[in-house]
Amino acid sequence: MGAMTDLLARFPRAVLGHWPTPLERAERLSAALGGPEIWIKRDDCTGLAIGGNKTRKLEFLLGRALAEGHGTVVTFGAVQSNHARQTAAACARLGLRCELLLSRSVPRDDALYETSGNVLLDHLLGANVRIVDGIDETVKALEEIGPAYVIPPGGSNGTGALGYVGAALELAGQLAAPGGPGRVERVVAATSTAGTSAGLVVGLAHAGLPARVEAICVYEPADVTSATLEALVEETADLVGVARPAGDHRVRDDWFGAGYGLPTAAMTEAVRLFARTEGLLLDPVYSGKAAAGLVGMVRAGEIGADETVVFWHTGGSPGLFVYPEVFTEPS
Ligand SMILES: *Cc1c(COP(=O)(O)O)cnc(C)c1O
Repeated sequence: MGAMTDLLARFPRAVLGHWPTPLERAERLSAALGGPEIWIKRDDCTGLAIGGNKTRKLEFLLGRALAEGHGTVVTFGAVQSNHARQTAAACARLGLRCELLLSRSVPRDDALYETSGNVLLDHLLGANVRIVDGIDETVKALEEIGPAYVIPPGGSNGTGALGYVGAALELAGQLAAPGGPGRVERVVAATSTAGTSAGLVVGLAHAGLPARVEAICVYEPADVTSATLEALVEETADLVGVARPAGDHRVRDDWFGAGYGLPTAAMTEAVRLFARTEGLLLDPVYSGKAAAGLVGMVRAGEIGADETVVFWHTGGSPGLFVYPEVFTEPS
């Protein structure tokens, strides 16, 4: 916490979560894979409305919105956006008006997808939800809403990524603590708008941890995701005022499948494996595909049995309820 206070203290922050999130050893999962020592960083347990990785970003984004005197927040996402749900909860807690512009980025428009899971919670949390398709509808909605603090999709700009710079420093403290793993060779995380991975890359380098970030693509292919990540690493390092890390990180899309929000067999298997060995709930869109990546890398021998790996659980479990066909089939 000391290092975090020094490095990030000058940025306004609205405390929204329960920190630190637990770092837990997953012995039964490790045994099932016959593989590395796996630890789970429980950012599904951030404490804000079912949790997830957007809570850390929103502490800095909304800290800034409040410091700048905004009363209204606008953000964007897919219909089943976890980011939109956490923004709605954070705004409720801080007394801000929340406007969500959601788009149909997944080829689905069935009633379950458009009324349950995260979007149900958006309404419950008091957000104004608009489904917008295309740039014209988005521009029109923004005009109707008027002056607002605008948060980019996924909360991914330099300010949002500060949350994951802090998360990396938090992990560094947990590694060294009594009962902690002591070391980590890899950090595996689902990656879409890349603020999570960018913040981790900058923060791990600053903490002097030689861990490689394995950024598993769930939203766009590796070339696009990689360009997004590199730009955000640079923006975040500049904002924090640290050297741009040479960075041992990789962007992989081997577990992406046919597209964003489209289930894969490897995802389904990984979600079941985590549930049945550790009682952990992943999600079909993000953490499930990242878990498929972890399982795939262990089975391919890319991650050695002697390594220590942190799987970053970024949350998303409300998404399980809008993919019933995937998880109710017998296996
Ligand atoms: C948004 C999200 C991610 C991806 O985080 P980015 O910072 O956008 O790359 C991963 N997992 C879950 C559950 C998410 O909601």
